[in-house]
Amino acid sequence: MPELPEAEANRLRIARDCLNRTIEAAKPGDDTDHIELPGDNERGRLVGHQFTQTHRHGKLIFAGSGTGPWIAVHLGMTGSLRPFEADDGPPDYAKFLILFEGERRLAFRCPRKLGWVRVVDSPQAEIDRIEFGPDALEISRDVFVEVIGTSRGAIKSALMQQKKLAGIGNLWSDEILFRLGIDPQRKGTQLDEEQLGEMYDAMRNILRAVVDTQADYSKLPEDWLIHTRDEGAECPQCGGKITRTKVGGRSAFHCTRHQD
Ligand SMILES: [Zn+2]
Repeated sequence: MPELPEAEANRLRIARDCLNRTIEAAKPGDDTDHIELPGDNERGRLVGHQFTQTHRHGKLIFAGSGTGPWIAVHLGMTGSLRPFEADDGPPDYAKFLILFEGERRLAFRCPRKLGWVRVVDSPQAEIDRIEFGPDALEISRDVFVEVIGTSRGAIKSALMQQKKLAGIGNLWSDEILFRLGIDPQRKGTQLDEEQLGEMYDAMRNILRAVVDTQADYSKLPEDWLIHTRDEGAECPQCGGKITRTKVGGRSAFHCTRHQD
């Protein structure tokens, strides 16, 4: 499932290929099952406007202009934003299309469920409405320590609560805990301030490194968990065994030797 770094890579594609072009139409794709899309009136608001800027908050991607309107996109489980030229035709599973003047198009491709596209007045208005917490790369150390250090459930679940900390999901919460040697079931309240500070640093370090590769995992260091997310695999840090468990209903991978 796309998280902050994957959303950032998708935002970059809009920034690179879709700005300063007048929108001539916005329409659903051929396949609109299992997805929330803007209705006729909302889509109509986009026509005649240009996207002049983009924004990302956690896993959410925005494109719009100073006076609006904006699109807000959640990539769901497998979604992506794909600029293309009219001649090339849209990608498969295109759920939503924006047609710019000339040949440029933008598709929201989403083979599986849970993604959505909305037309909103501004990024902040939407972030406030859905009550998302601070972005994981923007949150201050103090607020992070407070929010995670007072969480009662499993630490992995705390890191993934978008209303407290926006941007981290299954993959990168596992990677953070793997680096720190912390069992995903530990509670935030069991960690001291120094451990929480180290977690803050690890979170930023990991997210920035993935952003820098534009979420190309093959470019990430070999001793990261991302390359060994298999039950029974050998831990690239200590030679222990990687185990799959359920934490808060999600699959968690961790090393039974060096994470406790
Ligand atoms: Zn290990």
